Amino acid sequence: MGTDFDKTRYEAMDRQSIWHPYTKHSVIESGPLPIITRGEGVYLYDATGRKYLDAISSWWACNLGHGHPRLVEAIIRQTKELQHSILGNLSHPRAIELATMLNDLFPDDRRVMFASDGACAVEAALKIALQYWYNLDRPEKCRFAALDFGYHGDTLGAVSVGYLKSFHKPFESVVFPVFQAPSPCCGACAFHEPGQTCLEECFDTMRLILREHAHELAAVIVEPMCQGAGGMRMHSAEYLRRLAELCREKEVLLIADEVAMGFGRTGKMFAFEHAGISPDMVCVGKSLSGGYLPISATIVRASLFETFRDTPQDHTFYHGHTFAGNPIAAAAAVETLAIYQEEGIVARAADLGKVLAEELQRLKDLPDVRNIRWLGMIGVIELEDDAKGRGAIRAAAIRDRLRREGILLRPLGNVVYVMPPLVTPEPVLRELVRALGCAVREIR
Ligand code: PMP
Repeated sequence: MGTDFDKTRYEAMDRQSIWHPYTKHSVIESGPLPIITRGEGVYLYDATGRKYLDAISSWWACNLGHGHPRLVEAIIRQTKELQHSILGNLSHPRAIELATMLNDLFPDDRRVMFASDGACAVEAALKIALQYWYNLDRPEKCRFAALDFGYHGDTLGAVSVGYLKSFHKPFESVVFPVFQAPSPCCGACAFHEPGQTCLEECFDTMRLILREHAHELAAVIVEPMCQGAGGMRMHSAEYLRRLAELCREKEVLLIADEVAMGFGRTGKMFAFEHAGISPDMVCVGKSLSGGYLPISATIVRASLFETFRDTPQDHTFYHGHTFAGNPIAAAAAVETLAIYQEEGIVARAADLGKVLAEELQRLKDLPDVRNIRWLGMIGVIELEDDAKGRGAIRAAAIRDRLRREGILLRPLGNVVYVMPPLVTPEPVLRELVRALGCAVREIR
């Protein structure tokens, strides 16, 4: 790799054979296509040797950066021992260790259902919620509530609870209807201008849904503290506290989708910890393995698991994926959690989050910016927008400029954000925000 000839040939082969996810044809057809060949620390390198700061941790997964020697070693070690064996009627050491480590992160007793992708962890949670009520002879509790601007993955169940008209209109005929409450994003919600307190109005519809429909609701699903793909929309811990309390009072399960925010991103191990709540199910993925291999999990309260016995009636959960808990992916996850513990990654993320906040606060006077917000290691600059989508066009230009400067990010419409690895050196983080500020100031 590395010669121009290679790059040209590989670009042509790519255009001939790959269907890129979430990518417009026109971008692939017309734009430059960096072909990433190597990763080291917080940097990615393309086939021409160019270095890029991975400012979105490769879709929010690589919290420990790239090429971590311990993770590489753990994967190689496991590959030589056992590559794959199923968890149906069998078990293996890495899955047992990983489930134990995950269980230990919770104050109460949990059971762990493994899968590979975040969406699959969400699908399992939705199905567990449905069957839980069925097991208890309350099959009428079969509907879900979720938040506007929520995103939970791209399978049909996940799309149903994370319905975004701009993405999902073609699937309208098959997704199931869900009660949708307004997104409670402080500073960018439907009720108030930035800086005002609006919790009552934000929570009102959710309260109404729970009061009027608890009898038919299986669960509420939310992304705690920050709705990621819907635009990095952050809400207060108090919103979550109220939601958890009402769910408990009304006998509705609460599912926390921590696929994006879990494992330190918000400055806590799990984002729901900001609210001191204990969701009935927690979905994790992405950085569970440090982003090295696909593995996800649905972490379920043991009291729910108990209703899935096969006597006197068969309530077995007939659900599973071929690669659920794959030993190599599980080995990467075990090592990831060990690194988190030994190196105090979550505390480090919280400290770095303060640096990120400090740098973003310096950018208060940026032109045509609607809102700047942050939480832990997430920094957001939401650009002014109009009916013609000028904000998104400007955001794409900012992305292109930063890419030329060696920074990889990927705005969500008019929302430009950074979510760098939790091990980003402090000077690199400061420089990232400064470069972002310059780009926003100069590109109008
Ligand atoms: N839930 C949330 C909150 C996510 O952000 C994502 C992915 N961005 C998913 C679920 C789906 O995860 P995956 O892409 O691994 O299926």
